Amino acid sequence: MDETIDERTAIVTGSSRGIGKHVAKRFAADGANVVVCSRSLEDCEAVAAEIESDGGSAHAVEVDVSEKPSVENLIEEAVDRFGRLDVMVNNAGINIRGPAEDITPEEWQQVLDVNLTGVFFCAQAAGERMIEQGDGGSIVNISSMMGSMGQQDRTPYNTTKGGVNNLTRCLAVEWAEHDIQVNALAPGYIETEMVEQAQEDADFDREDVQNRTPLGRFGTLEEIANCVSFLASNDNFVTGEVLTADGGWSAFGWGCKDD
Ligand code: NAD
Repeated sequence: MDETIDERTAIVTGSSRGIGKHVAKRFAADGANVVVCSRSLEDCEAVAAEIESDGGSAHAVEVDVSEKPSVENLIEEAVDRFGRLDVMVNNAGINIRGPAEDITPEEWQQVLDVNLTGVFFCAQAAGERMIEQGDGGSIVNISSMMGSMGQQDRTPYNTTKGGVNNLTRCLAVEWAEHDIQVNALAPGYIETEMVEQAQEDADFDREDVQNRTPLGRFGTLEEIANCVSFLASNDNFVTGEVLTADGGWSAFGWGCKDD
């Protein structure tokens, strides 16, 4: 069992599936009380039931991270249920792809609202609660390796993830005096529904991604949960950091491994 998470209360946004679900299950397995939340209460209840049937402690809440009152309600429900808040993982995210010249104002706003404003609202509400508690905490924002690079047809997504990286640094500096560590995780390609969807949309070729990745494969949910778990612990002197977990993709300056 990971001593660093044991008996703490953690909220993981967007935990009805994918990375968020796996992180929530990992925290629960390590002994934390976990709040599972997304826009679908039904899906979150199913994940919470899975956690409880494995012997963990979980509570499901419906939230839209882009709506401040909904986020405030999330924090309130978490504290009502478990008494405090120690870890906030801001994982909920969406992607709308398309040529920059075709992105509508509504599409642009939607990605901004969820990926950047949503992370700010959640971090703000969690930070406020942690400051009130007076004994620190940790916030982990799920960014993307794409937050530090340009890419075709991904302007809204990559822009918001770049924003998340600097939001992370700002909050880390501001809340250090309260012992709140704020970090971001920037994954590369991980095996999730989001990636499956992109494949269905013929968005990219699996082999291209593997060839472009020095480790030669997609990352696993387990590996991402390991990284989040490290960043969520309060015994590492790490704050304001964007940890890249991409199998070497961003370190690799050329193209295909075979070139
Ligand atoms: P996913 O689409 O499988 O899951 C996203 C989750 O966010 C879902 O539970 C969804 O319901 C929730 N969500 C979406 N909008 C919401 C809103 N407004 N309010 C509350 N919840 C909302 O995605 P994933 O692949 O698990 O990705 C999770 C995070 O990791 C995202 O921030 C994504 O950008 C990031 N990421 C993923 C990959 C990857 O390869 N999958 C790579 C880099 C970064």
